[in-house]
Amino acid sequence: MLVFHADVNSAFLSWSALKKLKEEPGSVDLRTIPSAIGGDVKKRHGVITAKSLPAKKYGVRTGEPVVSALRKCPGLVLVPPDFGWYRQCSHAFIEILKTYSPSVQQVSIDEAYLDMTGMGKDYPPEKYGMPFPLCAAYQLKDEVKKKLGFTINVGISTNKLLAKMASDFEKPDKVHTLYPEEIKKKMWPLPIEELHGCGRASAQRLRSIGIRTIGEAAGTDESLLQDLLGEKNGHYLYESANGRSADKVNPVREKAKSYSNERTTPEDITAQNYKELMPPLLKQLSTQVAGRLKKDEAYAHTIFIQVKTSSFRRHSRQAALPSATNDPGRIYQKAIFLMHTLAFEDGLLYQEDGIRLVGVGASGLEEAPAEQMDLFHWAKENESYHKEKEKEKARSKKLEDMEKQIRTRFGPGAIYKADEKKG
Ligand SMILES: [Mg+2]
Repeated sequence: MLVFHADVNSAFLSWSALKKLKEEPGSVDLRTIPSAIGGDVKKRHGVITAKSLPAKKYGVRTGEPVVSALRKCPGLVLVPPDFGWYRQCSHAFIEILKTYSPSVQQVSIDEAYLDMTGMGKDYPPEKYGMPFPLCAAYQLKDEVKKKLGFTINVGISTNKLLAKMASDFEKPDKVHTLYPEEIKKKMWPLPIEELHGCGRASAQRLRSIGIRTIGEAAGTDESLLQDLLGEKNGHYLYESANGRSADKVNPVREKAKSYSNERTTPEDITAQNYKELMPPLLKQLSTQVAGRLKKDEAYAHTIFIQVKTSSFRRHSRQAALPSATNDPGRIYQKAIFLMHTLAFEDGLLYQEDGIRLVGVGASGLEEAPAEQMDLFHWAKENESYHKEKEKEKARSKKLEDMEKQIRTRFGPGAIYKADEKKG
C-alpha cells in the first residue's frame, strides 16, 4: 500500500489570512505576524484554535486560553473564526485531492488520506524529473498552493499511521517520507507524546516507567505495555510504535442525500391525543434517523418532518440547524418544534381530522469530521449550540403562550373544541 497524508498548515489561520487578503488587498498577511484565531475576541476569553508561526515563537499554543496567549504575546493579533469560509476552503482542498486518487478519506476539516497504490504509471520519471511517489506529492502540494493560496504538508508511507506521522515533521509547505526502513532514524527518537493515537494519559503512564521516546516503547515487551495501558491500548501502542497499522484508506462513499424514517400511526393523531402520541413517536423516529446518520458518520444541517393527514394530504416543514448534528436529542428538539408549528401555529390540526403518518428526516449532509471531535466542531458547537438553545426556548415559550391564548379565548378545552367543531 502507498498512502499520502495531506494536512493544511495552520488551517484556520491560513484560511483567515487568505480571506483578509482577498477583502483588503495589500493589507498585512496574518501568517507573517504573531496572530491567532481565538474564540470570543471581544471579551477576550475562549481558546486559541490556530496560530501563526511567528505566534508559535512566542510560545502560543493551540487550545490555550486567549488570556494566557495574550500574556505571552501582548501584541498578538486575534481574529474571530469564520466557519463558513473554512468549509469552502476545505471543500476546495479535498476536490483537488480527489484528482490525485479515487480513494480519498477526509478525516477532519483540514486533513485527508489518499490511497496512491498503483498510481505510479501516471507519473513517468522522465516527465517529472523526480521519481514517483515524490513527484506526485510535490505536484499536489504545489497545486494547492498555486490554486488555493495556502500551504500543506504531505506525508508519504506504506500505511496511514506512518503517512500521518510523516506529514507532522517539519512545517510548512513540505513533503516528507517515513518508510518502514526509516522508522528507526526518523520516528523512534521522537517523544512518546508525538506518536499518533497516544493520548496524554497513556504518555504519562509510559513516562512513569521510564519510556520517553517512541523507540523505547517499540523496544518494550508488548505484555508490559498491556499491563500498563490495558490489553487493547497496549497492543495498539506497541504496534504503532513499531510502525504497524492495518488501517485502510476508506474513501467516503457517495452519500445519501437525506435520511428519513416514517411510520403510520396506530391511531389517527388529533388535537386531543397529540400530546400523548406525538412526542414519543417523534422521539423514536429521531433516534432512528440519528442512528443511521451515525452509522454513516454523517452530520445533517437540516431537519424536516412530514405528515400524511387522514384525508391523505402530505405536509412538511423543515428548518436549518446552526451546526450539523447527528445527535438524537437535537434532531428530536427540532422535529417537535416543527411539528408544533405545523399542527398548531399553522393550524393543521384545526383543519384536518387527524394525522395518520409521521416522518422525520435529515438533509444538508456534511462529511464526517474526524475520528475524534476536532477543534473545528468543538468551537462551532460551543458557539452556536447555546445560542440555538436559547432561541428554541423562546420559540417554545411562544408556542405555549399561543396555546394559552387559545384556551383563554375559547375556554379551557379550546384546542379540543376547535377540532370538535369541524367534526
Ligand atoms: Mg493541519
